Amino acid sequence: IAKRKGSGLVIYDPAIDQSSQESLSLLSELRRALERDEFMLYLQPKLELCSGQVVGAEALVRWIHPEKGFIGPDNFIPFAETTGFIRMLTLWMMEQVARLSEQLQQQGVQLKFSVNLSTRDLLDQELPTAFAAILQRHRLQPAALCLEITESAIMDDPARAQNTLERLSNMGFALSIDDFGTGYSSLAYLKRLPVDELKIDKSFVMKMAQDQDDAKIVRSTVDLGHNLGLRVVAEGVESEEVWFLLRQMGCDQGQGYFMGKPMPVQHFLAWREQWRAP
Ligand code: C2E
Ligand code: CA
Ligand code: CA
Ligand code: CA
Repeated sequence: IAKRKGSGLVIYDPAIDQSSQESLSLLSELRRALERDEFMLYLQPKLELCSGQVVGAEALVRWIHPEKGFIGPDNFIPFAETTGFIRMLTLWMMEQVARLSEQLQQQGVQLKFSVNLSTRDLLDQELPTAFAAILQRHRLQPAALCLEITESAIMDDPARAQNTLERLSNMGFALSIDDFGTGYSSLAYLKRLPVDELKIDKSFVMKMAQDQDDAKIVRSTVDLGHNLGLRVVAEGVESEEVWFLLRQMGCDQGQGYFMGKPMPVQHFLAWREQWRAP
């Protein structure tokens, strides 16, 4: 059976038909999840390695589905990106983080929260204006927040990414390059982009106590970042040994299961009260 599609004829494939139906229903489920408040803000602590002090947290989304239960971001973020739903999700996350940040500032607590941006967000010309409106509503300065952008998202369309990043940076947001080391970014771009922070990918950090090559990569990335005047953060710190190694290398901040896994806001605030650095 042949079906007419656009101008040409395509062979009818029930499998394709079914999967596009599945996509449609996933998209409507995501929309409904937003309406029904099924997304949840999780926070993972970010610490200064030399003092052990908690400096902030990364905002990570979770989906608590009424039937399927807990769904991690890797299971719906890539899909949200291809459909454009990511825009709604990014704004929702920004809203949650801004609200929390305002509450904490009123209590005299200064923490810097990081929000993840996706490839698609970097192409969204309206995003900076939408962020500005959220911050204004919560009487927040952009400098209270950091935006994490993966290296591969930047390299997808470097010229446009640079334009968006410059607008966000001029507004006062701190910018971080996420998953650094995995995205083949050219050092020429790194030099030109208005970033404040490099986040070394966890794939290099997790095994750096056992793997000499990983340790060398981490050490040279810390030096590279510092030579360019950037703050360097390591993600994937899973042991005290890795913490100490990173500290010896002069890495500024760390994040990982050794200190704390991503957790709901109330857990994070309680964790912060009882945290003692090694
Ligand atoms: P990411 O931005 O690289 O976030 C770090 C991921 O590493 C998180 O996974 C975190 O749970 C995990 N992680 C942190 N410390 C450790 C550790 O010590 N060991 C190990 N093995 N893993 C660690 P998560 O929360 O599942 O998020 C996965 C990815 O989904 C994120 O990677 C990010 O790319 C994306 N994501 C999550 N939330 C959002 C969001 O709100 N917006 C966007 N655009 N992307 C998001
Ligand atoms: Ca991130
Ligand atoms: Ca990362
Ligand atoms: Ca990642």
